[in-house]
Amino acid sequence: MADLSGLLEAQRLAVLRDGAPGLKERLAALDGLAALVRRHLEDLIAAVSADFGNRPRQETELGELMPLMNGIRHVRRHLKGWMKPQRRGAGLAFQPASARVEYQPLGVVGILAPWNYPLFLTLGPLVDALAAGNRVMIKPSELAPRTAEMLRVLLGTLFADDRVAVVAGGADIAQEFSRLPFDHLVFTGSTRVGRAVMQAAASNLTPVTLELGGKSPVLILPDYPLDKAARTLAMGKFFNAGQTCVAPDYVLVPRDRLDAFAQILMDRVQAMYPAISGNPDYTSIIADRHHARLVAMVAEATAAGAQAMRHRDPGNDAARLFPPTLLIDPPVDCMAMREEIFGPILPIIPYDRVEDAMAFVNAGPKPLALYCYSDDSARVAKVLDGTRSGGVTVNATMLHVGQEDLPFGGVGESGTGAYHGREGFQRLSHARAVLRVGRFNQSHLVAAPYGKMTQWVTRLFIGGPS
Ligand code: NAD
Repeated sequence: MADLSGLLEAQRLAVLRDGAPGLKERLAALDGLAALVRRHLEDLIAAVSADFGNRPRQETELGELMPLMNGIRHVRRHLKGWMKPQRRGAGLAFQPASARVEYQPLGVVGILAPWNYPLFLTLGPLVDALAAGNRVMIKPSELAPRTAEMLRVLLGTLFADDRVAVVAGGADIAQEFSRLPFDHLVFTGSTRVGRAVMQAAASNLTPVTLELGGKSPVLILPDYPLDKAARTLAMGKFFNAGQTCVAPDYVLVPRDRLDAFAQILMDRVQAMYPAISGNPDYTSIIADRHHARLVAMVAEATAAGAQAMRHRDPGNDAARLFPPTLLIDPPVDCMAMREEIFGPILPIIPYDRVEDAMAFVNAGPKPLALYCYSDDSARVAKVLDGTRSGGVTVNATMLHVGQEDLPFGGVGESGTGAYHGREGFQRLSHARAVLRVGRFNQSHLVAAPYGKMTQWVTRLFIGGPS
């Protein structure tokens, strides 16, 4: 078992010993990481697929490696500018003086990661942490053990343990990890565990970034062509078999289009995946426990009166291949409408007025993502103004996550703090305020014993009865 406190102590000592790395050193670390991933691309893709049972290489490439490499390229291009101290104005009362903000590494950053994108959600935060000049400890998910072990071995060839260390282990190690006095802890996972992590971190006053989940809604407004919506909605929902934090969780459609939309969507899904069993393009559910949860979710909803529209191929329980399933108008108190689905099940809910659909969204916790389909900009603006979510894609799903120049994060129950790109650099840096007092600065003139000069200065700046 890894000595977690020992590793943290070694990293802390290294921070004190070596100070903040310069631009060159940070870029070299990022280049090394990019080269390492490229060199071991096939092994990494195979490890992820083996952890799932099956996951198409294209999904690992599109969903993990492409955003990772784009992110590294973006950081490379901008890091010099981000690291530059920012000039700020010193207050009139404090002149002559100059003020600036300097970005310092925080020190040691902990990364606790989930299994659903086991590469991007470990290495993505690592990129931001290295760009900001930190040392890093990573605890990948125990549900993707092959990928975790490969990351441990590969990162071990690139970085000394006191720079980047990967520790394997289950929930017990994760709990111990979350209790370490890091300078910052980035947690990606469920809202339930996020609560426990924030509590553990609070006892050390360790600041946290929580990248959590939730029920991300899709609103199809009356003007939008259903077949066009079905294309990008099906792509986002059934990618990785719905095991994506920003996957569309449920869809709101105008009541008179409910049945037509369900049929168009299922036709589209069946065209994308003509079969489920043995289809190399369709991802398995990560574990039996999660598969059983999805089976129970559909059973409960149908028992409560929802109609289930299933893919013609029933899938394969032993191989954890769960078929795409639409739940038409399920009761709002069933599991599929109370919990994050995190699988290939999609409830479709009818609405009468767009205001009702927005009220439905606003009745739940603030989601991680919101998707709105409409070509009418004024209506889209109204929906965006009247709702809250971590991020938004208009007229498609999930694509905002892949934008290196946009912050990624949740709000309320879907998370705290955002990363990626500039926001990631700033989140994992300390913005240190530095005031340099000028040679002829006379601020000591307002010191005690207080007399006329102090009164003159305070009157000048506060004002007073005239
Ligand atoms: P999870 O919360 O079960 O586990 C995440 C990590 O926390 C794992 O490394 C696990 O070992 C660790 N952990 C488990 N119990 C812990 C405890 N008591 N204290 C500290 N750490 C503990 O999540 P998961 O099942 O791996 O992932 C699915 C969830 O993650 C979904 O809710 C999904 O929406 C969310 N998610 C969010 C994002 C995002 O960026 N916002 C991305 C992917 C997944």
